[in-house]
Amino acid sequence: MEILHTAAELQARAEMWRREGRRIGLVPTMGALHEGHLQLVRAAARECNVVVATIFVNPTQFNNADDFRLYPRLPEADAALLAPAGCTALFLPTVEQMYPQPTVLRFDFGPLERVMEGAHRPGHFNGVATIVSKLFHLSCPHRAYFGQKDLQQVAIVRQLVADLSFDLKLVAFPTVREADGLAMSSRNRRLDAAARAVAPRLYQGLQLAEELVRAGQATPSAVQTAAAGFVAAEPQITLEYFEVADAHTLQPLTEWQPGRPVALCLAAHLGGVRLIDNVVVS
Ligand code: AMP
Repeated sequence: MEILHTAAELQARAEMWRREGRRIGLVPTMGALHEGHLQLVRAAARECNVVVATIFVNPTQFNNADDFRLYPRLPEADAALLAPAGCTALFLPTVEQMYPQPTVLRFDFGPLERVMEGAHRPGHFNGVATIVSKLFHLSCPHRAYFGQKDLQQVAIVRQLVADLSFDLKLVAFPTVREADGLAMSSRNRRLDAAARAVAPRLYQGLQLAEELVRAGQATPSAVQTAAAGFVAAEPQITLEYFEVADAHTLQPLTEWQPGRPVALCLAAHLGGVRLIDNVVVS
């Protein structure tokens, strides 16, 4: 596995791979890798001849300075995990490489970003769309791999690909969980023992909501109230939102839409760490 540090190096490699007729798979990450990331890399390795993983803690998608400062950074350990998973090239740029000058362009994804993460983290998806566009341009992937753990991000990137005609296939990979159900996340490393002990309650709340949806609970708001109440009953958890939404538009549901999948999404704070998770009921 080779490690590339500059945008020019990545671009030159991508041009070479394209000339050689190789199929390029891209796995963008912010590092502090876990099994969820590695499964994306393994999927890319199965479906492509070249796998580019990127590790970049992207400042423009953070709306909280402490969250950016405390985000775990472990590039050496990450590199050691990526090679055996089938990664061909690791792109590890500096902020200066990715942002030689401040960006002026602003993205507006309309209703898609006025809910959940977009509503609670102003500017977040502008930063995501900016960095993802840059990575797409630099690495010219045939396929790009994203986790459904970040459901709204997948929807935003899908819109980005469609609107800007990026010639690639977006692959959305299912959420990888710990044995107790907690969705794997780089931020889990920041949970202390007490917070980690109660963290599985987030997924339990989503499972409860899923059961209620499947059982034909009268209204989305009844599901939301019951599941949000269950999660928030744990004093160490501060629930930021619990949404029952249309899985395609991500807009909150006021009544069931027969035949359309339902997204159950939450964000919560535990011991100073903000976590998100979701389940899609089809
Ligand atoms: P991050 O490093 O958190 O920005 O995540 C990089 C990519 O890995 C994103 O596409 C995430 O959605 C995906 N990812 C993060 N956690 C998981 C997980 N538990 N299961 C599957 N994919 C994940």
